[in-house]
Amino acid sequence: MNILLKNATIVTQNEQREVLKGDIRIEGNRIEEVAPRIENPGIEELDLSGYTVIPGLIQTHVHLCQALFRNLADDLELLEWLNRYIWPMEMAHTPASLRASARLGLFEILSSGVTTILDMGCSRHMEVVFEEMQRCGIRGFSGKVMMDAGGQAYKEPTAAVLESTEELIRSLDHNATPVPQKVAGQAERKSVFSRRIGYALAPRFVLTCSDRLWEAVGELAEKYDLLIHTHSSENRTELEIVKAQTGYSNVEFFVERGLASSRLCLAHCVWLNGNEMEYLQEYRINVLHCPSANLKLGSGFAPVPQMLEKGINVSLGSDGAPCNNNLDLFTDMRLAALIHKPNAGVRSINAQQVLDMATLGGAQALGLAEQIGSIAPGKLADLAILDLNKVHLVPADNVVSQIVYSAQSRDVAQVMVDGEWVVRNGAPVSLEESEIVAEARQECAALLARLNL
Ligand SMILES: [Zn+2]
Repeated sequence: MNILLKNATIVTQNEQREVLKGDIRIEGNRIEEVAPRIENPGIEELDLSGYTVIPGLIQTHVHLCQALFRNLADDLELLEWLNRYIWPMEMAHTPASLRASARLGLFEILSSGVTTILDMGCSRHMEVVFEEMQRCGIRGFSGKVMMDAGGQAYKEPTAAVLESTEELIRSLDHNATPVPQKVAGQAERKSVFSRRIGYALAPRFVLTCSDRLWEAVGELAEKYDLLIHTHSSENRTELEIVKAQTGYSNVEFFVERGLASSRLCLAHCVWLNGNEMEYLQEYRINVLHCPSANLKLGSGFAPVPQMLEKGINVSLGSDGAPCNNNLDLFTDMRLAALIHKPNAGVRSINAQQVLDMATLGGAQALGLAEQIGSIAPGKLADLAILDLNKVHLVPADNVVSQIVYSAQSRDVAQVMVDGEWVVRNGAPVSLEESEIVAEARQECAALLARLNL
């Protein structure tokens, strides 16, 4: 789309973190120009007087397949939560229930100003997740959950996990539109997208994958240049079992297995031992911070202020609907800014750092630092337009504070991905809320009936 967005407050998130009043010219799927005044270029114009434009938010840890399980697994710790509810429910998905779950999650995510996600998929019917991501216009990565080890009944044979994973990678035709880029200090990566969708390997966590599977994950990441998206050091009991079984803590394990690099995206990192903070720094591993989920599962407080001090890349995620119980990144921004203050001090983290995590940090985690995360000429046109003129946001115009501490997802008016409108008047253009709610209720009831729950 060629369009000139006029008279907006623009939170650029550029290197100087400039906030300016002005115009944004978009040609096709790219931002061409950002300036206080762009005169009549002969394209469609949209007057955004009174509105605030921010880079599309980046949600780097979510489980679309769990959106259907919201409010069904409260007040439990991680391992019991997984064993008793989440794994049985994920395994009970049919293509129809998974579609309902993905649509429910995507509606909420897009409506909250998110333009890019890193989703941890399901172990089956993954084509449905990719179809729904493509249909709603979001940018993002997902991948089949890989589980071939551990005591639970949900593991698959290693060969079957690998075969279906590689089939899915190939089915995305991900080399169709490679986006080469160079991030300072890192080897060049070809982040791969086909119609905005990329594949990310999704081994669930250390205990659910055999040595052979972890080895294969490393090989596939090299072969196809893929992100590795997994959970790490979320819960103290999990950490104890990992140590007992492998002799290592989680991050040590990834270093030991040769998987530590800027490709590695670790959700949580609440419990770090010995040198693990240094490993995160040295290997440029990305930490996906999920404050709501860490609170709800009673997991603990990730040492985020210390990570930021060391220059470790931290991005934000909501995790699954049953451990949050929303997929609203505004809630997670607010919590990320609040929860570290009692332990680390009121100045340990500020609103700008949190907005950075939700934009630039996410872009870096996904290997897309040159493409998304800020509003600048040459970047992809991924934007969220906010109405910050409501009673819970006024009177002072300290826009970064407004966004992080006061704004809510209902303040998102429009969202653009790749130069196309995906949310207008606060609602996704390709999804009908009443239909999604009805479909979700029906599929959730049927899924619980299949499980005799
Ligand atoms: Zn998770």
